Amino acid sequence: MTASDKPQIELSAGCACGAVTLSVKGRVRSMLLCSCEDCQRATGTGHSTVALVRTGNVAVTGPAASFARPAHSGATLTRWFCPTCGTPLYARSSRAPELLMLPVGLFGSNATWFAPSQLIFARSHHAWDSLPEAIAQHATYRNPEST
Ligand SMILES: [Zn+2]
Ligand SMILES: [Zn+2]
Repeated sequence: MTASDKPQIELSAGCACGAVTLSVKGRVRSMLLCSCEDCQRATGTGHSTVALVRTGNVAVTGPAASFARPAHSGATLTRWFCPTCGTPLYARSSRAPELLMLPVGLFGSNATWFAPSQLIFARSHHAWDSLPEAIAQHATYRNPEST
């Protein structure tokens, strides 16, 4: 997928209780699924669905709370969520602070543009968790140098 194939989005989404709103305007940099155990725990499912966008393309209003933990790469991964209803809002790695990871489910019915090209952390993927056919799979990060 070349850069010009990646979707240009202009969307707003809110948490379940409405306290926090996220507005995104810009081109999606990357779309992926992640089966790391942290994502499994954070989502309650077999993998997370992530769209990477530039940090400057996202505006957040409302009192988002955060939790930071060490990631597999040695970087610090911070996840933001609504402190009232717990809806996951976005995440960021200290290794790539210019990018935000957006949980695609946040956009509800406005997520038809999402087309994941790869699964990362396939090493902890479960057989019961169905995947798109023929999606590229990487045992950990696709590129350990840049993630
Ligand atoms: Zn909320
Ligand atoms: Zn993950």
